[in-house]
Amino acid sequence: MPQNEVREEFAHFLGPGSENGSWFRSEFQAVLDQWFDWRRDLFAEDPSPLPKGLRRSPGFLAEREQIGQKLAELCDRLTGEVPKYTPRYIGHMVSEVSIPALLGHFATLLHNPNNTSRDVARVSGAIEDEAIGLLAAMIGFDPDTAQGHFTSGGTLANFECVWRARYRMDHFLSLALAISEQAGEPLDPFAAGHMGWKRYHALAAQYGFSEEELRKASAVVSNPFEAAERIGKASGQPWRGPVLLVPGNKHFSWLKAANVFGLGEEAFWPVSLDANGRLDPAALDHAIGRARSAGRPVLAVITVAGTTEAGEIDPVDTVCDRLEALRAAGIDVWHHVDAAWGGFLCSMLGGEAETVLEGRSRTALRAIRRVNSVTLDPHKLGYVPYACGAFLVRDHENYANSLFAAPYIDRALANDRWMMTLEGSRSGAGASAVWLTGQTLSFRPDRFGAMMAGTIDSCRFFARALQNGEPLVRPLIPTDSNIFCFSLAKPGEALSVSNERTASVFRAFTADPEFSVSKTVLSRENYGELINAHVARYGGEADTDSTVLLRCVFMNPFWREDSIRAALMPRFIERLQAHMN
Ligand SMILES: *Cc1c(COP(=O)(O)O)cnc(C)c1O
Repeated sequence: MPQNEVREEFAHFLGPGSENGSWFRSEFQAVLDQWFDWRRDLFAEDPSPLPKGLRRSPGFLAEREQIGQKLAELCDRLTGEVPKYTPRYIGHMVSEVSIPALLGHFATLLHNPNNTSRDVARVSGAIEDEAIGLLAAMIGFDPDTAQGHFTSGGTLANFECVWRARYRMDHFLSLALAISEQAGEPLDPFAAGHMGWKRYHALAAQYGFSEEELRKASAVVSNPFEAAERIGKASGQPWRGPVLLVPGNKHFSWLKAANVFGLGEEAFWPVSLDANGRLDPAALDHAIGRARSAGRPVLAVITVAGTTEAGEIDPVDTVCDRLEALRAAGIDVWHHVDAAWGGFLCSMLGGEAETVLEGRSRTALRAIRRVNSVTLDPHKLGYVPYACGAFLVRDHENYANSLFAAPYIDRALANDRWMMTLEGSRSGAGASAVWLTGQTLSFRPDRFGAMMAGTIDSCRFFARALQNGEPLVRPLIPTDSNIFCFSLAKPGEALSVSNERTASVFRAFTADPEFSVSKTVLSRENYGELINAHVARYGGEADTDSTVLLRCVFMNPFWREDSIRAALMPRFIERLQAHMN
């Protein structure tokens, strides 16, 4: 790195040796001071229940001492915690959190707002809207029409998608069922389930059913078994419900959602992956065709931007093209991108930072702006403390989960968010952490985007250096982002043997305090082509149904620094080799 190059983002992190500590302390102190003053001044005329005499009494002092002792005990125990702040931590999707995020989180924690309602979060609710606006702009949504909220994480954000997509489809099916029964005409559940809001409104206006009649036909607000019976009768074939199309690289949360929302795990249809572990668009076409012949509408198509296993980016753009063609033919399918990991990579788009990405990944990320809804996880690549996920829709009409007569709530009414969120009470701390990050580090290509590009560059550096240093390292695939997965195999070796070696090295790393890595196991069921390609690259023999990989996640911003690379890289190779013997 040239001596004079300023790495602005390094001011936003405490530093492995707490280098920014004294400045951080003064900001922390300022937050506390202002909070004290605010309380002292607000109702200054009220009597104090804590006069000096009481505060100096032996009983009082003993209580304080006990709190101090136990706090010290807690802090001592926490020093045994996994040290995730250091660049030596390349295990899971977490690293050093940023200073703006910590300060925003902490400052808000002191006021303890509950963003469930403006009644208890007058300021924090507005900050949440602004922070959602910043994230919307980052992924390319129009902040004026997008809507969303913070969740406890990506899992809940994915649930929010299923909840709303189901609500939307339930509106379509209820109306179509009522029409079919009235007209005595057969119901086509596949066509009805994808009618889209425009047609829904036109038909609703034309037929003028009452709220009551529509609610009776609903599987969500009435009895689902009764609704199923009626749909079966109207369509002339048993109703098996909608399906959820999820790529085989899916996160567990989708299976949980199918389960929790009563779709049944059978309704969770995995879409095959290609040899790079990304959703195969031809397989998606096939799955949609299969759903159509089975008379089962598609609740949502999920694509993933940044898979949990390997950071791969599905061809979101190709899927958008296919779904837009279907939409033009009157089949409106909800498209959700699970960008829990990769969403923040969108900050690179539109600037020089994006050139670090392959053209294909860039196009895929740029297409996120075309989809219906998105999951982001600020508590991953947003460098924000737990628990902070986010769910966003592009058009606020799809944020709805409300009455049939007025199927979406006016944005002004959304102030009372408890009606619109799966969770009830919600902390405002995550929203503030994102807000302060966006206001300072800024989600621009030359700022946050440059930092993201740095993580990808660090990952590539590591992959290269590791392969140069140890010939048995077998990279899974050229990674799309900042996660490097590899196995340890001799040329021509059986997969079962290399799995054994890789797993044993992982066990040794878990007992080694020097570095943290993670492990992932890919199964043939979802990753067949990828496993074959991986093993073929070193002439191995795929004699078993899964592949064990070591997984290194590059999030820590300081891996960009040459001195860190020079110090840690040889040491990592040494430890790896020690664990192989
Ligand atoms: C992490 C992750 C999730 C789940 O997020 P949580 O915050 O752990 O609930 C979902 N999808 C993907 C792709 C993820 O990486």
